[in-house]
Amino acid sequence: MEKIVSLCKRRGFIFQAAEIYGGLNGCWDYGPMGVELKRNLKEYWWRKTVQERDDVVGMDGSILTHNSVLVASGHVGGFSDPMCDCLLTKERLRADQVPAQSGMGFFYTGAAKKDGSWNMEKEYSVLVETEKQADKARKTAAQYYAQLAGKDVSHKEIELQGERMEPVTDSTMYNPANGSLLTEAREFNLMFKTTIGATSDENDPNATGWLRPETAQSIFCQYKNILDSSRVKLPFGIAQIGKSFRNEINPRNFTFRSREFEQMEIEYFCRPEDGLRLVDEWLEKRLSFYDEVGVPREHIHILDVPDDERAFYSKKTYDLEYEFPFGIQELEGIAYRTDYDLTCHQKGSGRPLEYFDEETREKFIPHVVEPSAGCDRTVLAIICEAYDEEELVDDKGKKDVRTVLRFVPRIAPIKAAIFPLLKKNEEQVRIAREIEKTLQPWMTVFYDEAGAVGRRYRRQDEVGTPFCITVDFETLGENDPSLKDTVTIRHRDSMEQERVAVKDLLHWLIARVR
Ligand code: ATP
Repeated sequence: MEKIVSLCKRRGFIFQAAEIYGGLNGCWDYGPMGVELKRNLKEYWWRKTVQERDDVVGMDGSILTHNSVLVASGHVGGFSDPMCDCLLTKERLRADQVPAQSGMGFFYTGAAKKDGSWNMEKEYSVLVETEKQADKARKTAAQYYAQLAGKDVSHKEIELQGERMEPVTDSTMYNPANGSLLTEAREFNLMFKTTIGATSDENDPNATGWLRPETAQSIFCQYKNILDSSRVKLPFGIAQIGKSFRNEINPRNFTFRSREFEQMEIEYFCRPEDGLRLVDEWLEKRLSFYDEVGVPREHIHILDVPDDERAFYSKKTYDLEYEFPFGIQELEGIAYRTDYDLTCHQKGSGRPLEYFDEETREKFIPHVVEPSAGCDRTVLAIICEAYDEEELVDDKGKKDVRTVLRFVPRIAPIKAAIFPLLKKNEEQVRIAREIEKTLQPWMTVFYDEAGAVGRRYRRQDEVGTPFCITVDFETLGENDPSLKDTVTIRHRDSMEQERVAVKDLLHWLIARVR
């Protein structure tokens, strides 16, 4: 993972937000390469989900969200994670992510300062592996009490009181990093609240707004307008790509858990009897999608979420998980949410949200299947999947390592790099520039004339450019007249080269990068 994070920074994929000010935790900026990669992913998702389907339309909802929308959806009341704090370091943890640990617990009733100037009765405990680590446990406990005694007190000045030792099994009450006791878990709402308009009262409910925690709610709120304005009939979907915000307790694993991120969501509305079948159909569709953007099926784990872990309104949920270097983690959730969401908004708004089926003359609230994917998590999976270090041996038997991002061409930030073999050769430069101009309206290309051509290839390998086009002496017809007006195309993965006529280049490339 470290290598990937460092490549992402070095080559302009992803930077920490506000890095020059020490960084904004949980927020990331995409650089010149990252933005192309992310756009390619979003555009391909849109093409597959909206453009190439008759039954899905798109929308783009506002990020600022009306308080009532999120009250009705249950987010204001319940969109929270349990959190707890380490009593020693004050580090904040997701209580449900603390692993169960066993070992020897050292319990104390309180502590005093050895010089008698301070005394405190307060229970505390530390978990260590075995009795043999008693010294470690005592030091940790003394550090904790020293903090309570005051800023300048050292743990060496502390005398622990009422020590007791007891085996502990499967407890989630201790910080895995240092063994310190944690606080009790409490619920923490993950939404970012804001005040809308120049009101003087921050607590005025009419002025309260939220940054949306998911794109889905604006789809449910506009479902009726879209139904009335676009002649769609059940089953049909509404798709949206956009930013969502969650004040995650513990943002981590690079972009995997961020506070600001992008989602690609589909709400697919259907008749109640079709929900279970459609959730399976979407699962297949989504797996093919990942395959097509460079995350093969074999590396995706399908978790059929068991009854007791699913949201109460969901009749079936699949989590698609990817083998990230830091563990197997969720990329996308595909949930059959029944009529829960529209029913909530019908109640909350007092507006009818039923669908009238002209054939059966029935009126009912449609059910919904929701494939909800994270754009940033998919970008990260694509980068992890593409990253490769290839050992090469040159003609002289010298070993070398080539870093290469093996993106599928449709996702690669740059589709083709264009080089004149020699930058001093005016004719080569002229033709290379001409090729650049011809390709630019169709795809992102990159012109480079600096340094040896081998070095230029390597630079492109590192950002995953699938094709490098070199204008050389053959292009000018200098050695073999039959090769005049052809260029060398070097393939990133095989490093093989072939010649293609300049006039065929655009079609040759389009066929390979779509
Ligand atoms: P998690 O359990 O990892 O917090 P979730 O189950 O709460 O995720 P959903 O509410 O189902 O996530 O959101 C749908 C998708 O949005 C997720 O599968 C993920 O790809 C993306 N997503 C959710 N939270 C984040 C985040 N903090 N950072 C990046 N992507 C996220």
